[in-house]
Amino acid sequence: MAWLEMSRTPDGRPQDWRVGDCFWSPRKNSAGRPWAFWETMQKVRAGDVVFHLCGESNRAAFTGCSIAASDCILLDEGPAGPSELYRVELTNYQSFPSPLLLKDVFTVNDNGLRAYFESNRNKSADKERLFYVIQAGRVQCLNGAYLSFISDELLALLFGVDARVTPTSSSAVAARVTAGVVLSEVARRVGQQGFARNVKANFGNSCCFPGCAVSDHRFLVGAHIAKWADNPELRGETSNGLCLCLVHDKAFELGAFTLDKQARVVLGKGSFGSPWLTPQLEAAAGKPILAGSIGLSLEALAHHWRAHGFALDATVAL
Ligand SMILES: [Zn+2]
Repeated sequence: MAWLEMSRTPDGRPQDWRVGDCFWSPRKNSAGRPWAFWETMQKVRAGDVVFHLCGESNRAAFTGCSIAASDCILLDEGPAGPSELYRVELTNYQSFPSPLLLKDVFTVNDNGLRAYFESNRNKSADKERLFYVIQAGRVQCLNGAYLSFISDELLALLFGVDARVTPTSSSAVAARVTAGVVLSEVARRVGQQGFARNVKANFGNSCCFPGCAVSDHRFLVGAHIAKWADNPELRGETSNGLCLCLVHDKAFELGAFTLDKQARVVLGKGSFGSPWLTPQLEAAAGKPILAGSIGLSLEALAHHWRAHGFALDATVAL
């Protein structure tokens, strides 16, 4: 899932509450009532992509994106003292090469955004709470739309370019150029997120290491067998992934173990000298991991063997 956070005055935030650290909202307004764009906070899950729209009026711009590091948590204390808040931790903040002005995004993608707004308005159910409205004949930001859901289609509209529109100003041209950079970054982030989701589902959302019982999604990752950066062809493939808990993910990443062609655990030569981890790994040696519906890529496994010095034979078919 992808979300958009609007922060009008990002510079005034205290340490640990800055853009990219977290985002938060009150749970109730001063009259004790909930507000739809605050309630949305509760739907954010760890691993979701969050875009940041910062600044006011003509200076409002998309400045970067982050990954949610936690589900929404409830707090009783905020940066200004006791207060009932929603908060989501963020990680991997990446600023865009240059801020993408909202007014340029609105100009360049005007037709598409209008059509999206209309089709959403005409839905009989599951209407999205959009961060923009058509007001006085213009596409405008909706005041108070603090956090809103961004569908894949809306993402493409915002950061893609409507080929039917010819830019009429230099800033609109700049927006087109930046949009290309942003879009590739977005595609990478969303692709990673989709990969992790598919991999976890392939193993029934449990750590696949023999005998490991971790199934709480906050402690699970969709790990790459062949590294993301090293192997472009395999990067999005579910067969290049293992659902592992944080400990077994790290052990696999460090080469403490690998898997043979029958997906059985093979231990690495290095010892971690850990009285806690070593016996656990040794007990699993030779045992198969939990089988996923989609089998593992032999090519990806061979990549892991080479990277960590395992002398395993990849020549015989699985
Ligand atoms: Zn595990």
